[in-house]
Order: sequence, then C-alpha cells, then structure tokens
Amino acid sequence: MAGKGRSRTARISWTNPTDREQRIKDYVDLVSSLTWQRQGSFLAATVLGLFYFDPVSTVVCYLGVFVAEILDMRLGREAKAWTDYDPETGRRLLRKITVNTALSAVAISVFVINMAVQQTSGGHFTPLFFLFSASLFAAMYNSAIISILLLRLSIYAGAFLFIALLDLVRYRPAMSSSSWLEFFTIIFVLYFIFDTSLKFYRHYQERMQQMKLIKEESERTKAAYEVKSQFLSTVSHELRTPLTSIKGSIDLMNTGVLGAVPDHLKPPLSIAAKNSQSLANLIDDLLDLQKMEAGEMHFQFQELDVNDLVKDAVEATTGYAGKLGIHVTTILPARELTVKGDHARLIQVMNNLLSNAIKFSEEGGSVRVRVEAIGSRVRISVQDDGIGIPEEARERVFGKFTQVDSSDIRKVGGTGLGLNITKQIVDRHGGTIDYESEPGVGSTFYVEFDQAVDEAAGKAGADPVALTA
Ligand code: ADP
Repeated sequence: MAGKGRSRTARISWTNPTDREQRIKDYVDLVSSLTWQRQGSFLAATVLGLFYFDPVSTVVCYLGVFVAEILDMRLGREAKAWTDYDPETGRRLLRKITVNTALSAVAISVFVINMAVQQTSGGHFTPLFFLFSASLFAAMYNSAIISILLLRLSIYAGAFLFIALLDLVRYRPAMSSSSWLEFFTIIFVLYFIFDTSLKFYRHYQERMQQMKLIKEESERTKAAYEVKSQFLSTVSHELRTPLTSIKGSIDLMNTGVLGAVPDHLKPPLSIAAKNSQSLANLIDDLLDLQKMEAGEMHFQFQELDVNDLVKDAVEATTGYAGKLGIHVTTILPARELTVKGDHARLIQVMNNLLSNAIKFSEEGGSVRVRVEAIGSRVRISVQDDGIGIPEEARERVFGKFTQVDSSDIRKVGGTGLGLNITKQIVDRHGGTIDYESEPGVGSTFYVEFDQAVDEAAGKAGADPVALTA
C-alpha cells in the first residue's frame, strides 16, 4: 500500500453509493451498533476464564480481543463520517475491515484455544460454546461482505478443528471414546454454521435486491411525477390566455356595451359567463398547486394588521355574499393585532374560507368572521350556519380535489383544491388551520398565526367591535 500515492485531485461528491459501498457501510454500521453486546459476552467469558483457567493467560488473551474491539470502534467512527461514499475511502475502509477481522478472529480463536489446551479431560464444552456463539454472531451480522464473512469463519473453523483434534492427537483415544464423538459433533456444527451463514447471506442479498427495486421504482415515480407536473403546468398556462379573452368577451356582451343582448340569448350567455369563471378558478387553483409543489410560490413576508386584512377580504366577497343573500358579520378586537405574512396569499386564504362559508350556507343565512388573540397567537375564524361537514370526511377535507357534499346540494361549483392550497399557504406562514363542524348546524374554520408583536396579551380579544357587510 505504501507505494500508492494519494489522490491530489479535488474531492468529488459521490452521493449515490454503489452496491459495494453500500455493503461496506451496512457492515460497519451493524458491527458498530453491536459493540456493547459483544463486549458483554467477552467480559463474561473472561470472568469464567479467570476463575476456572489460568488467570494470566486469560487476561493476555482478553487484551488481544480488546485491542481488536478498539480498532473496530475507530473503524466505526471513520465509517460514520463517510457520508459522501467516495470510493477511495471505501477501499481504505475495506482494507481496514479485512485487517481488523483477521485480528479479532485470531484473538478470539487464541482465547478459546487457550481454554481448551488447559482442559485435560471431560470435553471442551466451554471453549467450543464460545466459539460457536462467535461463529453464529458472524453468520448473522457479517453477511454484508462475503469475503469478510468467509475470512472470519475460516479462522474460526481452524480453531474448531484445532480443538477437535487436540485430544485425538494428545491422547490417541479409541474410536469408541467421547473425544471422537466430540470430533464428529464439531464437524456437524461446522456444517450447521456454514448452512446458517449461507441463509443469512441470501437473506441480505434479497434485501439488497428489494432496496434496489424500491429505489428504481421511486426514481421512475419521481420522473413520471415531474412529467405530469410539467404537462399540467404547460396546459394550464396555455388554457389561461385564450380563456381570459373568451371570458372577457362574454362579460363584455353581458354588460350590454356591445349592444343590447336579445332576451333569448341572455340565459346561454349567463351560463357561459358562469362556466368560464369556474374554468378560470380551476386553472388558477391548478397553477397555484403546481407552484406550491414545485416550491416556486414566493412569499413576501411583511408585518400585516389582521383587522385590515380581514376587512379587505370581507369587502371583496360582499358582492358574492349579496348575490346569495348571505349576511356577513365581522367581529374585530379593538386593538391592533399584527402577523408576519404575505398579504395577497393571506387574502387568498380568507377568500377561500369566506367563499366556502357563503356557498355552503342556506339563502338568507349568516356568516361571522372573528379575529381574536389567544395568548401569543392570532385566531381568525369563519363561522357559518350551513350544511356542515360529516365527521367521517375530516381526513379528506384538506385533500386535493375533495368535495365532501353531494353535487345536487351544491349551489356553486368548486374545484376541491381551495382548502388544500389554503392549508399549504397557512403552513408556509408557520400557522395552523382546523375546523369544527356539525352537519345541518354549521361549520367554523379557523386559522392561527403567531403575533408579530406580542403586546399586553391580557387585552387580547377585549372590546370586540362588530361590523356588518
Ligand atoms: P371547493 O372548491 O369544493 O370548495 P375546498 O377545498 O375549498 O373545495 O373544500 C373542500 C370541500 O370541503 C368542499 O367541497 C366541501 O364539501 C367542504 N367544505 C369546505 N368548507 C365548508 C363549509 N364551510 N361548509 C360545508 N362544507 C365545507
């Protein structure tokens, strides 16, 4: 290794790990996460060794295992910092893993062999059991890198065979003796460990394969989603321009500026005006949604007087409310409450809540808008006595293209996107939106934001002033 020069080129960022790098990372992460579990087993074995075997050689052997553990811990830290998956670091880590594995497997083998050598009769249950546990541990947790697993298991297999042959060489017992029985049992155990390792290895391979498929699938979905978004955005933009002129012309005809509209043409023209308005709303909602999802909706945050904001929004819906015979009352606190927000977007939020309250109310009904301070927050609520929302629809109300009520009850159309967009705008302001509703009784939608200036909270909501529109 000494002859190899270090790369002098600038560091490149490798964000996607290859199969090999993923395995190295998985291996080190798993081995590091089990450090204390391993330490516990080694310590237990050492305590037994101190009592029942030669204490000095037990301590020396334990030190060997301990050094290997320290090296593994350092390797773990190094691998944790390896977040860019640069292949050169990957190769270096693999080299270190190989050396550490050899060291640790040899240290553990020497540890158990030291015990076995000191036992003169009665079999070698204790060292063999420790060796078996270590092999099983390797089978279960080293399967990410097959070469490392094989290296460790071969060293353990050597130790197994050494212990198995130890008594046969030392005592040259008869074939019928228990030493030979132990020897054959060890051969069987070796086969068992090999078989188990293979199963864990296959299991890891399958998991890797599944991860790969999931990753590919997610990339395909992402690509398809981007194409869809692009398509939707292009179509919406392309539709908007001609629609604006169609709608403008129809509106112009309806005003009579282009000449008196014959009576028989009034109904179809009014339907055309209404439908072109619905279409324009849908396109605007789609474009907003698109912008929001692409992270392209920009907000200009500034300090806003909530009372003014609500007054503006209520005023903007006066015509619509009047057409449906709905009475809108505004209850404002006497003092000024301010929030940090984007004026146009918060007006959009209020418009949506107000137009929903109006359109889902009975003719001649009333809608109440209230502003109040709740601690350091400002709450704006819009209450109606309309059709209400059944509890089972709660999950869907803020979803996309959701319309809870059946279409024949619906007085005015909608896109089912309004509340979804509203929620996203409120979220971007760090606010919350929720509602309470009872079918047949009415609904109260409320949004809450942090106050920009937290003045004497005690006065909040005091002296409300009622305005009507
Ligand atoms: P829409 O364009 O249909 O109004 P929204 O996303 O604004 O879409 O609302 C989603 C659905 O939630 C509505 O279609 C309606 O079924 C229900 N909803 C919203 N506000 C109210 C309300 N104030 N009263 C009754 N139902 C409501």
